[in-house]
Amino acid sequence: MPEMPDLEVIAEVLGRKVVGRRIASAKVLRPLVVRSLPDGAEPCALLAGRDVREVSRRGKFLLLDLGDGLWLAVNPMLAGSLRHGSHPLKRLTRDYLSLVLSDGTEIAYHDTEGLGKVYVTRSLDLVPGYTDLGPEPLAPELTAEAFLARLKGFRGEIKGVLTRGALVAGIGNAYADEILFDAGVYPFRRVSQLSREERLRIFRSIQDVLSGAVAELRELIGEETDALHRGTMRVHLHKGEPCPRCGQAISEIAARGRITDFCRACQPGSLFG
Ligand SMILES: [Zn+2]
Repeated sequence: MPEMPDLEVIAEVLGRKVVGRRIASAKVLRPLVVRSLPDGAEPCALLAGRDVREVSRRGKFLLLDLGDGLWLAVNPMLAGSLRHGSHPLKRLTRDYLSLVLSDGTEIAYHDTEGLGKVYVTRSLDLVPGYTDLGPEPLAPELTAEAFLARLKGFRGEIKGVLTRGALVAGIGNAYADEILFDAGVYPFRRVSQLSREERLRIFRSIQDVLSGAVAELRELIGEETDALHRGTMRVHLHKGEPCPRCGQAISEIAARGRITDFCRACQPGSLFG
């Protein structure tokens, strides 16, 4: 599942390829994931003839600014991606939307799981989940003090709080594991039990882990927009392997419908404490 670092770099790459191009034609290849808000107007009619002004990212959304207040907002969820290449692209079964551009290239929204969504809207506030997003994790205004103040409003286990996107946007299961390992904090600690020092460590780890991942992914992703490259993960999906800090085997807990990997020595705690 793409998270903030992946989508940040994909937005940069796609922006270099498509900004300034006009959408000559649009076609929905498979229904269900493409919808226009608020009224369900024919999305292709809204898209045709639009210029791509900018490609950006907010939380785990990719945003194409189509000018005149119109947006294409992509929520890739587990497996959505935007393919780009010369038109006609080799058609894949799970391509849902095709945009043919004025320079003879094509963007296709591809999704092997079909769980993502593509919205065409004049109001991003109508996009489900968009208004719930917290600040961007690397935004300059998210200072340590601002983070501490925001964290006071949250209850529950720190990993769940990090991944829900309301405290800080764009963090998913994989980077939450990496951030909490970096901070040396047990993933299931309750926010209310965290000391000020631990909260500050989490803040610094959010910044260090995510900015490091963006830099690494810029190298790995190159000019591709549709391959999910995973940056270096120190604990996530490394169950049983030696902890890179202390050497003890990485633990894994499957709970709340997802996998959490961590080091019991470097991130001490218990589900009952
Ligand atoms: Zn360790």
